[in-house]
Amino acid sequence: MFDRVEAFYRPGTVREALRLLQNGKNRARVVAGGTDLVVEADRSIRFLIDITHAGLSYIRRRGKACVIGATTTMATLENSPAIRALAGGILARAAATCGSVQIRNMATLGGNLANGSPAADTATPLLALDAEVVLADARGRRKIPLTAFYSGLRKTAPGKALLIEVVIPALPRGGRWSFQKLGRTESDISLVNAAAGLQLDSKGRAKWARIALGAVAPTPIRAVNAEKLLVGRKVDESTLAEVCDQVAREVQPITDVRASAEYRREMCRVLVRRALEECAAGTGCSL
Ligand SMILES: Cc1cc2nc3c(=O)[nH]c(=O)nc-3n(C[C@H](O)[C@H](O)[C@H](O)COP(=O)(O)OP(=O)(O)OC[C@H]3O[C@@H](n4cnc5c(N)ncnc54)[C@H](O)[C@@H]3O)c2cc1C
Repeated sequence: MFDRVEAFYRPGTVREALRLLQNGKNRARVVAGGTDLVVEADRSIRFLIDITHAGLSYIRRRGKACVIGATTTMATLENSPAIRALAGGILARAAATCGSVQIRNMATLGGNLANGSPAADTATPLLALDAEVVLADARGRRKIPLTAFYSGLRKTAPGKALLIEVVIPALPRGGRWSFQKLGRTESDISLVNAAAGLQLDSKGRAKWARIALGAVAPTPIRAVNAEKLLVGRKVDESTLAEVCDQVAREVQPITDVRASAEYRREMCRVLVRRALEECAAGTGCSL
């Protein structure tokens, strides 16, 4: 499938990777774990630039933020005590659902986002966590919200830029979090996935709420109108029903080989309800 590849590079720095990417013009592609790129089998690729030795595999604290290098693998995220402790472990849980052990040992966080799939499992928790991404190109580095990174179906901001790291800012205090995934099998990609964050006040009203969904629109999305509907309301059966109805209106699922649009829309209701119930259960609220 890469029979037209003329050269394979393994730069030791980001600067070198960017130079190679620029020199290769449209015929050069970055490769990390290769689990999406190999399947894609793009025969226009002449130069492969393996960035797994460019110093981008790390999980660090930077002030109150948690910073994750782009080539950090799903297996590392899944097993990291820091990521398991962050926001109820929703990112670790999402990483643990990405394919088989063999896939997770190779697949990287940066590749999962840069591939631009609406079903990318790590995108949903990262959207709920208000994550940002740091991009680098010949002009320098810039940080943008993950919401701005996605510009359409399989379209992301990088272009000739490298995704360097993901920044998860300080979390709002007192929140509870949940990640839910529905797949055809244990190791299959999501038919629908959802992440939620919620904090209740002493009267059981939502102080803030975050709801994100994957595989139900051209990009992973935040259900912002459903979030707005929830804030300030007592989280009970009737509020949850209204919020889930709003979620179903906000998504734009398609029918494909895995599921129909109708089924996906219905599963959005189910997964968001489960996610919010899990968040609320952690606060002692009985639904
Ligand atoms: C059998 C199988 C099961 C899978 N199951 C799941 C699943 O359950 N959930 C899920 O979300 N995904 C799943 N995937 C998809 C895939 O494993 C993930 O998306 C993975 O995280 C991709 O990362 P990678 O490092 O392998 O990316 P690569 O294949 O190396 O790259 C993917 C794309 O991103 C670009 N890229 C990679 N890194 C960067 C960077 N730092 N900056 C700019 N561009 C970059 C590459 O040029 C390429 O276009 C599965 C794949 C397979 C083959």
